[in-house]
Amino acid sequence: MRAVAAGAVTALVLLAGCTSSDDDPGTAPSTPPAEPAPTTPETSPPAPPPSTTQPPTTETPVRVDPDDVREATAMRAVRHLAGVVGPRPGTTPAYFEAADWVEKRLTELGWQVERQSFRVPGGFSHAGPTEGIPVDAGRSVNIIATRGDVVPGEPWLAVGAHLDTVPTSPGAEDNASGIGALLAVAEATAGRRTRLPVVLVAFGAEEPRGPSDDDHHYGSRAYVASLTVDQRQSLRGMVAMDRVGVGPVVPVGSVEEGDPLRAELLRAARRIGVPTVAESGQRSSDHWSFVRDGLPGVRLGSTPYAGYHSAQDLPSAVDPEQLERTARLVVAWLR
Ligand SMILES: [Zn+2]
Repeated sequence: MRAVAAGAVTALVLLAGCTSSDDDPGTAPSTPPAEPAPTTPETSPPAPPPSTTQPPTTETPVRVDPDDVREATAMRAVRHLAGVVGPRPGTTPAYFEAADWVEKRLTELGWQVERQSFRVPGGFSHAGPTEGIPVDAGRSVNIIATRGDVVPGEPWLAVGAHLDTVPTSPGAEDNASGIGALLAVAEATAGRRTRLPVVLVAFGAEEPRGPSDDDHHYGSRAYVASLTVDQRQSLRGMVAMDRVGVGPVVPVGSVEEGDPLRAELLRAARRIGVPTVAESGQRSSDHWSFVRDGLPGVRLGSTPYAGYHSAQDLPSAVDPEQLERTARLVVAWLR
């Protein structure tokens, strides 16, 4: 297909080369042309009024396309967050360094970014090899990005990923992978048209600081608590990307079996040929903060891996192709 197009271009260039000899006085054709050169007739009809031929002054942006997802954008985030910033519990200076970096990337991509600050209690890291390590109380932030198209009371969608880690893990898969996919989605949708306005959120302090259901997901709970009645009623779906760089298929997890939002995502994946596995009983990420408050939420990711919550959670654990599959699925859902 490419070769044919290139051949056509070459032919056009050659034709153009032939006609350009008319400009050269030294190479007049030896025989007169069979037909007179076409001239613009003076009686040509006037051009139709501009309103019917020109695009409207406010051009509709091009629709988002999963093919615009770049895995390099996602992997850059994984390498930076896990390889340069390192462990970043939600109330630490390293977390704020990571938040600054993500805010800068989103701003560069053309998104409008706001910070939402919230308080996080101290506690003890709860899951995996870092269990029992103390984590300090303090403030954390959510990084919230929009394209300026969210209208109060009108339907909207949210896509999020947590940016924090447990204390001793650099968190490549958990969850620089989700942030990387979020930035790839941000890039593919910047200045483009989605079926509804989208809000992107990098959540702070997702990781557990105790055993109960109130000891984790602090950033997403603060975000949900900040939504107005109008915003709650018009939210059509929230997708959390958490551990999305391991395995050959994308887990699509809902709290309940038969969740309509999960079905939407599974359909979007089928449309673009991304392999998925449907899961239920999934409460272990930021989508749960939405669902437990009566809002629609689903999680992508969760495939088990060796480095979970350990110092071995390094960029080499993350498969760029799985990041790409996840980000493509989200863009297909937003399309
Ligand atoms: Zn996580």
